[in-house]
Amino acid sequence: MRISGATRVAGVVGRPIAHSLSPVLHNAWLAAAAIDGVYVPFSVTPEGFGDLVRALRGGSVAGLNVTLPFKEEALALADTASPRARAAQAANVLVFGEDGGVHADNTDGMGLLAAFAEQAAGFDPAAAPVAILGAGGGARGAAAAFAEAGAKVRIVNRTLAKAEALAASFGGRAYPLDRAAEAFEGVGAVVNATSAGLAGEGRLDLPLSATPATAVVMDMVYKPLKTPILAAAEALGRRTVDGLAMLIGQAAPSFEAFYGRPPPADVDVRALALQILEG
Ligand code: NDP
Repeated sequence: MRISGATRVAGVVGRPIAHSLSPVLHNAWLAAAAIDGVYVPFSVTPEGFGDLVRALRGGSVAGLNVTLPFKEEALALADTASPRARAAQAANVLVFGEDGGVHADNTDGMGLLAAFAEQAAGFDPAAAPVAILGAGGGARGAAAAFAEAGAKVRIVNRTLAKAEALAASFGGRAYPLDRAAEAFEGVGAVVNATSAGLAGEGRLDLPLSATPATAVVMDMVYKPLKTPILAAAEALGRRTVDGLAMLIGQAAPSFEAFYGRPPPADVDVRALALQILEG
């Protein structure tokens, strides 16, 4: 990779950020497409996200992917937002215009639906309710995308008030974690959008046997690729969808927003990411 005076810079911001696979995906696409661009991680303190966004106004950086825990703040700091970011009340993409404006988008939902299309062929979001675990940025993107695709959403969260607020936005129902079995009855899919288990904190033990045999189980967490939730789902014979497929699915439209064209199709970024995940 050669950095020139015209190199277009984009990146990803979150906390923690060192584990992110996004730089691997985007830089592989940039190299394969011979685009004069680079994609770098931005590490900020919990209070530093707003300062970073203000500093980048003016377009010296083309755009940022935003990850945990800044997606809601990202939407609040933007001047304009796409309908899907507004529906999700969270943004995972910020694009910086040369006029100083900041535009927010949310491609998480597209990534999620792309992952289901790829790994659970024939899954119909409108056929049965979808249970989403979590009520943070990832869960919001998922709820917005599934609702848009015709699904009835059930939100299950540790903090019930947050589940109730999110469910209300999409005409869905809210459940506390200890009533997950009830939320899983008759579902077409279960999606884990909690950060439980990250950084060794907590671990969810889900009553997946309460789901119908036809249910698809998806985990947004992709490290490890086969999470304990996906392993438990497989043991029950449920079809599964992994978080890496979603990560790649949300990265593709992000790449287009930053570099002006879709990523090249002839590079196997999943294989690259798997090499890294498998150490
Ligand atoms: P947020 O910090 O916005 O939300 C975290 C959610 O997890 C909250 O609902 C929180 O519940 C819940 N939670 C955290 N710890 C626990 C615990 N110990 N037990 C039960 N619930 C818990 O995070 P995001 O929504 O941005 O991300 C969530 C996960 O999804 C992360 O692991 C992230 O990496 C992943 N993700 C993956 C994507 C992909 O492309 N594969 C895309 C987006 C997210 P409470 O409200 O009670 O605090």
